[in-house]
Amino acid sequence: MTRRISHWIDGRRTPGTSGRTAPVYNPATGQRSAEVELANSSEISDAVAKTVAASKDWRHASLSTRSGVLFAFRELLHERTDELAAIVTAEHGKVLADAAGEIARGLENVEFAAGVPQLLKGGFSEQAAAGVDVYSIRQPLGVVVGITPFNFPVMVPLWMCANAIACGNAFILKPSEKDPSASLFLAQMWKDAGLPDGVFTVVQGDKEAVDALLNHADVAAVSFVGSTPIAKYIYETGTAHGKRVQALGGAKNHALVLPDADVDMAADALVSAAYGSAGERCMALSVAVAVGGVADPLVDAIAARLPKLKIGDGTHPDIDMGPLITAAHRDKVAGYIGAGAQQGATLVVDGRVEDVPAEGFFLGTTLMDHVTREMTVYTDEIFGPVLCVVRVQTYHEGLALINDNPYANGTAIFTRDGGAARAFQFDVEVGMVGINVPIPVPVAYYSFGGWKASLFGDAHIYGAEGMNFYTRGKVVTARWPDPATSSVDLGFPRTR
Ligand code: NAD
Repeated sequence: MTRRISHWIDGRRTPGTSGRTAPVYNPATGQRSAEVELANSSEISDAVAKTVAASKDWRHASLSTRSGVLFAFRELLHERTDELAAIVTAEHGKVLADAAGEIARGLENVEFAAGVPQLLKGGFSEQAAAGVDVYSIRQPLGVVVGITPFNFPVMVPLWMCANAIACGNAFILKPSEKDPSASLFLAQMWKDAGLPDGVFTVVQGDKEAVDALLNHADVAAVSFVGSTPIAKYIYETGTAHGKRVQALGGAKNHALVLPDADVDMAADALVSAAYGSAGERCMALSVAVAVGGVADPLVDAIAARLPKLKIGDGTHPDIDMGPLITAAHRDKVAGYIGAGAQQGATLVVDGRVEDVPAEGFFLGTTLMDHVTREMTVYTDEIFGPVLCVVRVQTYHEGLALINDNPYANGTAIFTRDGGAARAFQFDVEVGMVGINVPIPVPVAYYSFGGWKASLFGDAHIYGAEGMNFYTRGKVVTARWPDPATSSVDLGFPRTR
């Protein structure tokens, strides 16, 4: 019988009742491995009601109690990394080392959130007026929702739930229906770490589940990570229903390679960031902007590295790159390569003809040179193992290209010139910048977020902005009875 991937409500696996399911595949074999339940609106209502009930108690848990759960969760995540990485690889396809890497980066967010007693300290002003003190506190929102993409089934949920729970909220995760098993493993770990039942809920589903969550009056806030059109939809629908929303979208990340760059170092970085996880990363570098004479040696250096990459089943330790998430996505990426060649790009390496395993959703690595800004390989987020090279004559031409792009998630500059790097950091209109660093995902004590079409809403995710997102401020003005300062005064209160 096919394995069923259920919801997690009130501290236990809960089979679905909608009768709707979606297939889950092992992308390395192409075999269907399970069916995931798809919640309908009445199942969502039930899950939200249970989560609301749990949130009422959890907001009373002391800061030390919450911090203790996070420390315990951190230990479990550390101990069970290999088990969890195997679950990720079996449904996503990324190689085991990469799956362990995303868990390690997610774990940083748990460590950050464990410091909640320090992070939630408010301000206090004694004697704001005679005998009057003023102080600020931050309180949880209640029930908050996270809707997450297929490409980081552990790290992205942890970007959200660690801080949300530390702040005293109850959290509902709606993971991607393409690789949903990791969500249940996380749920079990929260339970084992001592989190009360109902504070971490998982509802599996598709648009129907998402819409029910966006429409539900008891959902206070929504964190979303996924593609730009859906991010925009989530932001507009969620805010129209009065919710706080942060919606992170897609990307087209450029690397600006200056003529003075260390070509070998830049090529190593570009190959790692373009083809790691088969290019299915929102911080993948998908465009190399080569300035002046660096273009020829850079293209040669990248091309020389590609035949050495081993493509195959990510469970084998010597494999560098796994398959794409679905057959349909692989075919879409292959379609872009064909369109790029037709529109005039030079196919230096064509991943469609590379020798890759016949079973599964594999595609080889592609390098396209002489790409121009009108081509669809440039305008669209491909989300596959395709690196485009755009040639420009000057730094300013490259900078203008990056700043004209509607996406603005991450970017990187490769140079030995500190002044040029400083100018780039100052002038580039992108949310996350690397200087000789290809995938500048901020550490957990900063916040993650792009600009423009890569983020809808005001708050970046995790770090200090995450703590603010999952709490609301309250300011208390207090005076204790003192006959010496008491009188009737109908004027507006003054502080001096
Ligand atoms: P997606 O937008 O298709 O799906 C994301 C989530 O939205 C999933 O949970 C999915 O079930 C749900 N969803 C899909 N269609 C929906 C609809 N019509 N209505 C309501 N909900 C819907 O994204 P994906 O393919 O899972 O992930 C890849 C995308 O995510 C890429 O565009 C990538 O750049 C982006 N991403 C961005 C970041 C970031 O931090 N900016 C991080 C990771 C991934």
